[in-house]
Amino acid sequence: MSPDGQPETGKKRKSIKEISPIDVYKLLPRTNCAECGEANCMAFATRLVNGELLLVDCPPLHTDEYRASREKLERLLAPPVRTVTIGTGERAINIGGKYVLQRHDFTYHNPTPIAIDVHDLMPEAELLERVRQIEQFAYNYIGRTLTLNAIAVRSVSGDPTKFGNAVRTITGASHHPLILCALDPEVMAAGLAEAKERRPLIYAATETNWMAMADLALSHKAPLAIFAPNDLALLRSLVKTLLACGVQDLVLDPGTFADEGFPDTIANFTAIRASACKQFDELFGFPLLGVPLTVWTGTELSEDVLTWREAITASMLISRYADLLIMHSLDGWVLLPQLIWRFNIYTDPRKPVTVEAGVRTFGRPDAKSPVLMTTNYALTYFTVESDIKVANLDCYLIVVDTGGLSVESAVAGRNFTAEGIAAALKSNNAAGLVTHTTLVIPGLAARLSGETEEATGWRILVGPKDSSGIPQFLRERWPPET
Ligand code: SF4
Repeated sequence: MSPDGQPETGKKRKSIKEISPIDVYKLLPRTNCAECGEANCMAFATRLVNGELLLVDCPPLHTDEYRASREKLERLLAPPVRTVTIGTGERAINIGGKYVLQRHDFTYHNPTPIAIDVHDLMPEAELLERVRQIEQFAYNYIGRTLTLNAIAVRSVSGDPTKFGNAVRTITGASHHPLILCALDPEVMAAGLAEAKERRPLIYAATETNWMAMADLALSHKAPLAIFAPNDLALLRSLVKTLLACGVQDLVLDPGTFADEGFPDTIANFTAIRASACKQFDELFGFPLLGVPLTVWTGTELSEDVLTWREAITASMLISRYADLLIMHSLDGWVLLPQLIWRFNIYTDPRKPVTVEAGVRTFGRPDAKSPVLMTTNYALTYFTVESDIKVANLDCYLIVVDTGGLSVESAVAGRNFTAEGIAAALKSNNAAGLVTHTTLVIPGLAARLSGETEEATGWRILVGPKDSSGIPQFLRERWPPET
C-alpha cells in the first residue's frame, strides 16, 4: 500500500484490449514457420490477443534463443488477476486468470470450479459415500460433460488427528483437488501431512493465524486463501504481508454473507475485481473464493429454503466474480443450474457452440429410411437428436456446417443454402445410404425447398418448425406418396 493508504496500482500497464497484435508480433520469432498451426506469426499474434491461443502454442518461442522475447510477452500478456493452480495432475484446477470485469469485453477463462464440502466428524462410510457422489456427479449438456471439480474438507472437530484421518480417507478415495479448511494451524498441519504432493488450497489465513499459515503454505508449496470477512482494508494488508513473506499463490475470501449481508458480499466481490481489472491493483489481483455453504448457518429456516438460498447465492457469485465456490448441497436441482450457468458464462460469446458436421445414424435405418437435415449449432443439434432418440426413430440425420448458426439464422445469413444442402448430400454420400431421393429439411428452412429441389434433384419435404414434431410428421408423411 502506498504511504497514504491508497491501493497500489499498475496504471502503466495496458489492458488486454489495448494490446495490438503488432505489439505482440514484434516479439514473436517472425519466422512464419507455422508450427503453431497458423499461417504466419501475424495470424498467431491476432489470435493470441483475442485470447484464442496461448504463448505455449508457439514452440520456437520456448527455446533459449527467444527467452528474452518470451519473458517480455509474458509480462505484456499477464492477466491482472493471477492464475492459481490447486491440485496436481490431470484434475488440477486453474482459478482466476481474468483479464476484464465484463464478459463482453473479453472471453472469460478458467470456469469457476465447484467444490463440495465434507467434514471430519462424518463416519468413514458416510464420508466415502459423499466422495463417491461428488466423483460421479456428471451431466451431459449439448455434448459437454459438466462435473464437480474439488472437495473441501472441513475441520469441525478441531482435532488434528480426526482432520488428518478424514484427509487421508479422501486422498485414498479421490483424485479431485482438495481445499483443506481449518483455522487452527496445528489442525491444518495434520491435514497437509496427509495430502503431500496434492497441492491443496489452504483455507485460511486470518488476522490472527497468518504467520503460521504462511509457513505451512511455503513448506508445502501450497496456495493459501485469506479470509477477511467484510474488511477489504484488512484483506489488502494481509495480501501485502503474505506476499512479503514469499507466498505468491493467494486466493481472496472477503466473506460470503447470507440474508441482509448479501449485498455486502456482492459489493465486496465487485470492488475487488474492479480494482484489479480497471486500476490494475496488484494487491487485489488474485482469484476470489465464494462460499455459498455459509447459507447453512441460517438454521431458523427449513432445509428446502436453505437449499434454495444456496442455489441462488452460488448463481450470483458465479456472475459476480467468484473464481472458486465451496458448496454443500449435492441435489441435482441446485447444482445443474450452476453448471449450466457456468458453462454459458465461460463460453466465448463470439463463437457459437458447434457439433461436427456429417451424417448421424439413429436406430437401425435401412435404404428406405428417412433422411433428415439440421445445422451444426449445438443447441439445435442436441434438441433434434433428443427428439429423434425419445421417439426411437430409425433414420439418418445430415448435419450441415452453418458456422454454428441455428436454422433460422443460417437461412437468413445465407449459411444454410440450397447449394450447401447439395454439397452436404454429396459429401455425406446420401445417395449411397438410401434408395429413395427424398430429403426432410427443417420447417424453418421452408423457403429453400424450391431452389433445393433444383440444386439437388431430390424431392424436398418441409418438416416441422419444432423438432418435437418430427415423430408425428414422419408417422403421417413417411413413406412419402409417390
Ligand atoms: S509457431 Fe511461432 S514462429 Fe512459428 S508461425 Fe507460429 S507464431 Fe510464428
